[in-house]
Amino acid sequence: MTLVYVELAEGKIKKSSLEALNYAHKLGEEVIAIAIGEAEDASLAQAGKYGAVKIIHVPILAFENNEYACILAAAAQEIGVKYTIFSNTYTGKAIAPRLAVKLDASIISGVTELPQSDGFKKGVFSGKAFAFVNSTKAIHVITLTPNSFALEVLGEEVAVETRTYAIESTTPKTKSLDKIKAGGKIPLTEAELVVSAGRGMKGPENWGMIEELAELLGAATACSKPVSDMHWRPHTEHVGQTGITIKPNLYIAVGISGAIQHLAGISSSKVIVAINKDAEAPVFKIADYGIVGDAFEVLPRIIEAAKNLKRS
Ligand SMILES: Cc1cc2nc3c(=O)[nH]c(=O)nc-3n(C[C@H](O)[C@H](O)[C@H](O)COP(=O)(O)OP(=O)(O)OC[C@H]3O[C@@H](n4cnc5c(N)ncnc54)[C@H](O)[C@@H]3O)c2cc1C
Repeated sequence: MTLVYVELAEGKIKKSSLEALNYAHKLGEEVIAIAIGEAEDASLAQAGKYGAVKIIHVPILAFENNEYACILAAAAQEIGVKYTIFSNTYTGKAIAPRLAVKLDASIISGVTELPQSDGFKKGVFSGKAFAFVNSTKAIHVITLTPNSFALEVLGEEVAVETRTYAIESTTPKTKSLDKIKAGGKIPLTEAELVVSAGRGMKGPENWGMIEELAELLGAATACSKPVSDMHWRPHTEHVGQTGITIKPNLYIAVGISGAIQHLAGISSSKVIVAINKDAEAPVFKIADYGIVGDAFEVLPRIIEAAKNLKRS
C-alpha cells in the first residue's frame, strides 16, 4: 500500500500533491491519500481522479510538524504501507523525515522519476547532478520534486472518510510566531511558467512590466536574492540556493546575471530564456534562448507580442 500526504491551499488539493498521487499510482501499489486541515469534500474527492482509491480527511486546524507526523505514522501503520509519498515542498521536507524516524523507514528526497533498476533518480548538488538511490528498509518515505511528473486523470472521484487519530502529547520543539501568506495568483513552487527579474530592473517601481508579462502568460513572478533583500519584492519570490528551488517548464530571467547561487534554484527549468544587456552575463551559458538587450526596450516589445498573440 502507498500513503500520499496531500497538501491543501484554500481548502483545495495543491497541484504538486496531485502529481504525487499520479506518481504513487504508477509505483503499482494501491494508493490511499490523506489530507490534514480545513478542506472542501468536493476538492478532496478529486484525489480519486489522480490515483487514490480513498482519501482520509483529518480536520485539525493548527499546523505543527510533529503532530502531522504522528497522524501520518498512525495512518501508515494502520494501512501497512510500503511507500509514503510527499511533495518536496517546505511542508513535505518538514514532515517526511519526522515520519521516516517514526516508521523506521528510509527517506529519499527530491525524487524526479519513477524508480528504474538502478534506483530512484534524484537531483543533488543543487540540481547540478543526479544520483540514483536505493532504500535498504522495508518502508520508503519519498518526496517528489514538484513539476517533474506530468499530470494525468486516471479515475473517478472517491469518497472522503473523516477521521481523527490520537496524537501523543509532546512539547513542540518549535513555535510559529507569525504566518506570512505568499502573494501572487499562482504559487511559485507550483508554477509551470515563471517570469523572474533581478537588479537589472533598477528598482521596485519598474516591476509593473514583469507583472504585466506574467499576467499575460499566466505565469508566477520570482526574483533574485538582492532584489528581495532590498525589499523590492517579497522574500517568498526569492529563488536560488538560499531561496526556493523551482522546476517550471519556462523560466524567463530579466536583468539577472546568473550567479551560481541563483542558478542553483532554477537550473532544472525545462526552458530558460535570458534577457540581459551584457552579452557576457553568465546566465547566457545556461539559457536555451537569449536576448542581448536593454530590458526596458525588450520587455515592452515582448508584452506587445504577447497581447497580439492573445488577441489572435
Ligand atoms: C551564500 C550565498 C547565497 C546566495 N543565494 C542566492 C540565491 O538563493 N539567489 C540569488 O539570486 N542569489 C543568491 N546569492 C547572491 C548571488 O551571488 C548574486 O549576487 C545575485 O544572484 C545577483 O543578483 P542579480 O543577478 O539580480 O544582480 P546582479 O548580479 O547585479 O546582475 C544584474 C544583471 O542585470 C543586467 N542588467 C543591468 N541593467 C540591465 C538592463 N537595463 N537590461 C537588461 N539587463 C540589465 C546586468 O548586466 C547584470 O547581469 C547568494 C550569495 C551568497 C554569497
